[in-house]
This record gives sequence, structure tokens and C-alpha cells, in this order.
Amino acid sequence: MKNEMEVEKIFLQLAKVPGVSKKEAEIAQKVASILEGLGLKVFFDKAGEKIGGETGNLYAFFSGSKNATHLLLNAHLDTVEPTVGLKIKKSRDFLYPATKTILGADDRAGVAVIIATLKRIIEENLPHPNLEIVFTVAEEVGLQGAYNLDFSKIKARKGLVLDGGRGGTIIHRAPTHEKIVAHFKGKAAHAGVEPERGVNAIQAAALGIASLKLGKIDDETTANIGLIKGGRATNIVPEEAWVEGEIRSHSEVKIRQTREKMINSFKEGAKKVRARVAVERKLLYRRFDLPTDSPWAKLVFQAARKAGLRPKFDSTCGGSDTNVFNLHKIETFNIGVGVANPHSKEEKLFLKEMNKAVDWLINICADLAEQ
Ligand SMILES: [Zn+2]
Repeated sequence: MKNEMEVEKIFLQLAKVPGVSKKEAEIAQKVASILEGLGLKVFFDKAGEKIGGETGNLYAFFSGSKNATHLLLNAHLDTVEPTVGLKIKKSRDFLYPATKTILGADDRAGVAVIIATLKRIIEENLPHPNLEIVFTVAEEVGLQGAYNLDFSKIKARKGLVLDGGRGGTIIHRAPTHEKIVAHFKGKAAHAGVEPERGVNAIQAAALGIASLKLGKIDDETTANIGLIKGGRATNIVPEEAWVEGEIRSHSEVKIRQTREKMINSFKEGAKKVRARVAVERKLLYRRFDLPTDSPWAKLVFQAARKAGLRPKFDSTCGGSDTNVFNLHKIETFNIGVGVANPHSKEEKLFLKEMNKAVDWLINICADLAEQ
């Protein structure tokens, strides 16, 4: 396999460059200079200014044969935690961090696979469609780079996000994710002298939470309360309390139902102690559920098989830039490049799977070149 050394070398180069969310200037410059070295023109958008980051999203376009279709390829530049001082060790078939940091294969492995694919296509003059390569920033902090992407530049109606996952995984389905913030308002009073004049906001919040069904609501819905704060001192009846939670579901109806139950329960809790509650919600990302029997899905599946992978359609409970591209009507799968245990110190990158991911992309490009 030709990729063998190449993609690993590229990954090791990239892994050395730190770049947590919104501090991606250095890694973006590194990737830009590699792409320019391959003869590609790169440019950045203004997402960085909009979100308070160091740099915008990085784009590189690579024309295919005349009348060929367009394909979006994406990976994100940021890592969820710092990788400063990272040292990498190699076992028989995977890389892992020898230091107390994450490996950052989420998503430097995705970036490396895209670069290695481009390099092979260019050096061996392989057939390919019009490639629209986008390396996003700030994915790990709410997909902010993707949300602020300049979609006027994108023509592709098909896309692939290379972001984590074991080799051959094809994520075709991900949930909607909503954040809920409840602000309980009571009345402050001296807890010893005249507590009867107070309204206890913390108690209201506790009553509101107590009757909620949390955790796995059903096989496609989860709910959680993850944060609570309130009060000022033990001798003051607390005037305010905040409760933050989230709901995820593959069904919009169930999102709505679960949200309504949550809000009603908060209101009931507040009512019991004569407090008030105001609830805000924020949509973090919208669900997608792509058919697995479309021509595009079949092409991706067959190309993985041809690369020696065991392809598998799968569903996830998390979000990624894939959600945003699908929201923009770009039929996008998130495909695995050989990463296990992302966002943890036990993160691993399986080298054979990463090598095969390059062949996978090359096969996909060859098939699309004829369309
Ligand atoms: Zn990721």
C-alpha cells in the first residue's frame, strides 16, 4: 500500500502542532502551506472574526475533469484539549499518546487522510471530481466554524466529513440536540430572622427536577440535567437558581414532547413554593437521517469494500460538522478513519484503517470522476 508511510508521516507532522478551538492559527498555517506545496490555492473566510477565533475556515478547491460533479471533503482543525508537548508512541498497529495529553487524532487523522489523498491524486494523476476541501475551525465548541462557513462558495451537493470513528464506519444518522436553561426566581430574606418572607428558588428548582425522567427516555431520545447553581449564603433564602440541561433525539416530535414535560415540571416545582421560572432553549444542531440505499450511499459503501474495509452504516448520539452540511442540503456522511476513544487520554489511531481510508477516498473520487 502506497499510503502507508505517507499518511502516517503527515499525521505526525500535524499532531505536533497544537490548536485548541479558536486558537487554530498555527495549525491552519501548517495545513495551508502543505496544500500550497501541492500546488493548490487556499483561502480563508471570516468565521474567525465572527466567533472570536484566531482564524477562519480554510478552503482549497481542486478542479476535476470537465462536467464532473462536485464533492465536499471536510475535517476540523481544532482539538478538544491542548496537545502541547505531545509525544506519540507506536504499538504494533496503533499510535497513542505517551504523554498525559490526548492524541488529537480527532481530528488531525481526518485532516491527514484528506491531504494524503490529494497528494496521491496529484502525484499519480488519478481521476477525481471537483474537490471542495474545507477545514473547519471551532468544531469542538458547538460547530461554530461550520455554522459560519461561507456556503456561497460551495457547489457540492454531496459531502464527506472525516471525523473520528473506526475505519469503514459510515454515520448516516445523528440527533437534534437542544440545550435548556431554567432560571428560577424566588425572594431573598434572612434565613434566621424572617425566613417566612422569602421564596426559596433552590427548593423550587429541586422540586422541578425531582419528578423529571432523565437518562434514556427511549431508544432514540435522551435527557439530562447537567448543571445547577444558585444562592448566595447559607443565611439567605436564595432568590435565584439556574438549572441547565439538554435533550437529544432522532425525532423532532420527541424533542418537543420531552421539552414540554421538562418545562411543565419546572413550572410545577416553582408553583409549589410560589417561585417563578423562565425557560430558554437553544438549538445546538439539527438532526439528519440519510437513506442508506441512495446512489451516493451505495457508492460510499462499495468504495470502502474495495479498499479492504468492512463498511457499516451507523447512527451516532453526538453532533459534528456533518449536521451543519446536511442542514445546508449537502448529502453528507461522516466516515471513520481509524480513531478509537476520542476526547480521552486513551485515544488511539489505528494505522491500517487510516491507510485504507486514503484508498477509500481515492476509490470514491475515481467513481465520481465519471459522473
Ligand atoms: Zn471531531
